[in-house]
Amino acid sequence: QKWTYSFGGGAAEGRSTMRNLLGGKGANLHEMSAIGLSVPPGFTLTTEVCTHFVASKGDYPDGLNDQVNAAIAKLETIMGAPFGGGADEGKVLLLSVRSGARASMPGMMDTVLNLGLNDEAVEILAAETGDGRFAYDSYRRFVQMFGDVVLGVDHYHFEDLLEDYKLDHALTLDTDLTVDDWKALLPKYIGAIEKQTGNPFPQDPRQQLWAAIGAVFHSWTNKRAQTYRMLHDISDEWGTAVNVQAMVFGNMGDDSATGVCFTRNPSTGENMFYGEYLVNAQGEDVVAGIRTPQPLSNSEKERSSLHLPSLEELMPKLYAELDDVRHALERHYSDMQDMEFTIQKGKLWILQTRGGKRTTKAALKIAVDMVSEGLIDSNEAIRRIEPSHLDQLLHPTLDPKAPRDILGQGLPASPGAAFGKLVFTAKAAEEWAERGEAVILARVETSPEDISGMHVSKGIITTRGGMTSHAAVVARGMGKPCISGMGDITVNVKDKTLTAMGVVLKEGDLVTVDGSAGQLMRGTVPTVEPEFSGDFGTLMGWADQVRRLGVRANAETPTDAKVARGFGAQGIGLARTEHMFFDPERIIHMREMILASDEQARRVALDKLLPYQRQDFSQLLSIMEGLPVTIRLLDPPLHEFLPDQPADIENVAKALGVSAEDIIRRSKDLHEFNPMLGHRGCRLAITYPEIYEMQTRAIFEAAADLVKSGHTIYPEVMIPLVADREELTRLKALVVKTADAVLAEQGVELSYHVGTMIELPRAALQAGEIAKDAEFFSFGTNDLTQTTYGLSRDDAGRFLQIYREKGVMQFDPFVTIDQAGVGELVKIGTERGRAERPGLKVGICGEHGGDPASIHFCHDTGLDYVSCSPYRVPIARLAAAQAAL
Ligand code: ADP
Ligand code: MG
Ligand code: MG
Repeated sequence: QKWTYSFGGGAAEGRSTMRNLLGGKGANLHEMSAIGLSVPPGFTLTTEVCTHFVASKGDYPDGLNDQVNAAIAKLETIMGAPFGGGADEGKVLLLSVRSGARASMPGMMDTVLNLGLNDEAVEILAAETGDGRFAYDSYRRFVQMFGDVVLGVDHYHFEDLLEDYKLDHALTLDTDLTVDDWKALLPKYIGAIEKQTGNPFPQDPRQQLWAAIGAVFHSWTNKRAQTYRMLHDISDEWGTAVNVQAMVFGNMGDDSATGVCFTRNPSTGENMFYGEYLVNAQGEDVVAGIRTPQPLSNSEKERSSLHLPSLEELMPKLYAELDDVRHALERHYSDMQDMEFTIQKGKLWILQTRGGKRTTKAALKIAVDMVSEGLIDSNEAIRRIEPSHLDQLLHPTLDPKAPRDILGQGLPASPGAAFGKLVFTAKAAEEWAERGEAVILARVETSPEDISGMHVSKGIITTRGGMTSHAAVVARGMGKPCISGMGDITVNVKDKTLTAMGVVLKEGDLVTVDGSAGQLMRGTVPTVEPEFSGDFGTLMGWADQVRRLGVRANAETPTDAKVARGFGAQGIGLARTEHMFFDPERIIHMREMILASDEQARRVALDKLLPYQRQDFSQLLSIMEGLPVTIRLLDPPLHEFLPDQPADIENVAKALGVSAEDIIRRSKDLHEFNPMLGHRGCRLAITYPEIYEMQTRAIFEAAADLVKSGHTIYPEVMIPLVADREELTRLKALVVKTADAVLAEQGVELSYHVGTMIELPRAALQAGEIAKDAEFFSFGTNDLTQTTYGLSRDDAGRFLQIYREKGVMQFDPFVTIDQAGVGELVKIGTERGRAERPGLKVGICGEHGGDPASIHFCHDTGLDYVSCSPYRVPIARLAAAQAAL
């Protein structure tokens, strides 16, 4: 079996399509080599080696050793230098060992650079390059990285040694250290490792290589990698690949550099070259935030306040070459790329490319721009946007006119706004969030250990680091606002304080983060509703053209209905009439109605509610002019409306002309042990038909008025919780009789429909019978999930969490529809209903109506529409389009 794949020298054994086998980083290294970009040569150990390694608890497959030796030999030939160094040739081949899983896991796996150096090789390198300082600096970097990543000796051991040395010799910057300084420090570094591990530092390059490879495979199972996988739905079984690659050096003097860049602006999506670099630096110096990186292009330099020299002005020819690579890669991959490069003595090397992480705003702009540039078509643009991410755009942003008590300015690392209470460690963030607090995490810089804390924070600020720092990249991926490089503020983790503009804030103080402007404010700042850019409208237009499923909204207030219509809802799929009764001036009449002891008294109370309902329906129907509005008649158990405060009880008693004791006694009579399965839905109207009669009258009086004043309206009356056709037959007759009477009284003609919710398993099975009366179905998948599983949504949270942790259940059936059970009932119900009544209109109105995976299911099942909360309407429109592609 083939365990290693080589690349380099203008050829490659792998391609970008082999991501599962070679990992994302590896597959792209092969691809870039194959298309002729200058990539340092190397080879990839496949993810299958990792799977073998993990399964066998640290063993390698047979034949791997020989394949690695052959691959190294090939490398040595291309580079013209022996691994480990040959005193005869006067040359030495150094390697980097880089992890790379199928899905990118930024910062999760560690990289070892300069591998192959030892006491002899460092001398060869010094002689070969004529630069002893460079050679010994590289050696000490290797010792430190190898010590940290492979042998688990923490960075601070080395940093302490370095600090002590600098103090003793009156040196301040690393660059002040000469070759002799590094030479003097090296034995101390190596000594620290030997003391910590109890073993000699490995001088044999092959031993170094195998230890590094093992460490990468081992890191697949470490805690922070596991956390990242859990948060991002990455399977433990995928494994990581290891890339072994010839080193190139960005730290060989002022004609060398290293950097990271995006082919477009990852925050805004603008088509401009965007990146950061450092002169005379190696690898992770840029992302680690140790030195402030410089802007790549002149236009970026102009926008930044720091005025550091750009690569474009320092090395114009190399910048132009890099810009060509940028265009070549975008054309090749038809997507925005995130690249890493190194310049060694005036020669450009590309070290990595991958699809760049971007904000939703940027994703929309890039997708729409790429369609007009001819790089992709509109269907591909639709596929590129994750529907649930649209949420980020649909929510309020900080009011630009509101006063801001500004504490500091940094880099706009990830857009959006959030406020919350200050915390200074990831652990504190988790503890506060656990208590339901909104928190803002303030750090000097973040590291992979902070991931869980970042996940629960509303916003993140760091005092160090650039636009490509760990904090910035991770925050953009999570869609959270982030400000990086806030050099003017001081974060003291030990004292839990943040000092800015002479103000000292403590843990728990309220701050607001504006990630788009890079501003940190004291207290909270008022927000405004979002405005949609042209790109949003363009993409939504394309989505609407390809989708088959209709999208309606669940809304009963005029505000919600207007928001829904603004977001493109094609009607209301569920207006819950009971929500209209909770208003203080209405609930008293509702209580009168419920507590009345006979029909007569009930009708008196209902008559008082009628004008309110009529007004509600009039507003809803006119806001949704020209579109269907499904009004569900009263559904919840009556006890939800009962008074429990003595003052409320008194008021109801007075209105009904009875005593408070009577009211209390009647309330007790109404008590139910299991109200969700009790006297509710259509069962209420079977016992008290006058309730639905009043609601129907209100709907059709409102409708008649609107028709008379020239409006086009489509009312649909929906009966909830039907289990048996007979319930619907009777209640439909009541609704039709009442509606027709009102229309006749008013002298108005109007066509309307009466349908039912299917939210009980029996109703789904009896759908054929029920469809004899029902003119439409709407699957109430919230109740249908509860009744199919025999699970109460209000109580299930506690143990469903444990089910998920133990792996008994892979998903939350109240968020994503359970296709195997609930979904099966939806299918059966739809088929049987349509068999009886061809063309029966069928929709879904549970929470699932706004969940992309459930929307795919609805599309596949042939439903006519989904109905979801107003803010999810755009998400549903896009998900419905993706389902249709
Ligand atoms: P990550 O996945 O964390 O980005 P990488 O494997 O990309 O890790 O390596 C981290 C850094 O090390 C890169 O930014 C790159 O600059 C540097 N690096 C990796 N391989 C080489 C190499 N062969 N030559 C020079 N620098 C390298
Ligand atoms: Mg990288
Ligand atoms: Mg229901």
